Amino acid sequence: MGARRASKDTDRRIGRRALIVGGAAAAAGSAVLARDELGRLWWRVPGVEKPRKEGEVDYAGARWVAASDANWRRADRPDDYGIDMVVVHVTQGSFDSAVKAFQDPAHKAASHYIVRKDGHIAQMIRELDVAYHAGNRDYNERSVGIEHAGFVDRPQDFTDEMYEASARLTARICARYDIPVDREHIIGHVEVPGTDHTDPGPHWDWDRYMRLVRAARTTPA
Ligand SMILES: [Zn+2]
Repeated sequence: MGARRASKDTDRRIGRRALIVGGAAAAAGSAVLARDELGRLWWRVPGVEKPRKEGEVDYAGARWVAASDANWRRADRPDDYGIDMVVVHVTQGSFDSAVKAFQDPAHKAASHYIVRKDGHIAQMIRELDVAYHAGNRDYNERSVGIEHAGFVDRPQDFTDEMYEASARLTARICARYDIPVDREHIIGHVEVPGTDHTDPGPHWDWDRYMRLVRAARTTPA
């Protein structure tokens, strides 16, 4: 954790990728490719990505709705970046407006999942990929982002169905990547270093949520 180690890790990864895409980088002349450009190029090399199917979801309870690919970066998690965190968000808007925003290439942000008040879950980005949801590169690379439709100052937006559906989703994510079910690893956007976001806000009931995640974690899927 921490910015120093993060940047060192990033440099090392970029070094490896720079070797892999040496041909493409050379073709681009001596121009310095932005790190994200390298990130987009390296996966084109055969054999470095897992098979994907259009419309496939990572969580059986979710419906696929693709986000604009401007709002995430292709990756091969957890092999290139380990996943050890879930970040809880609140959309500050309706479910439909969040889906629209994540489909908008100009939005420049999106999370993997959105949970609606009735417990419906949309997956918009594969967990393999890095979603731009935390406003912090290191945290984006190591986490799965879950949005909850509603407003931070409206506790009534956080329904029983929403808490339960979200907790089951988070429990499955924790099970798949061996993430400890605690507040070090299941955090709010507000807890991401450097953020100016306050979600999920003071009305999000963390005790209740963590209790539900723990309960779902010990229940067979
Ligand atoms: Zn957020």
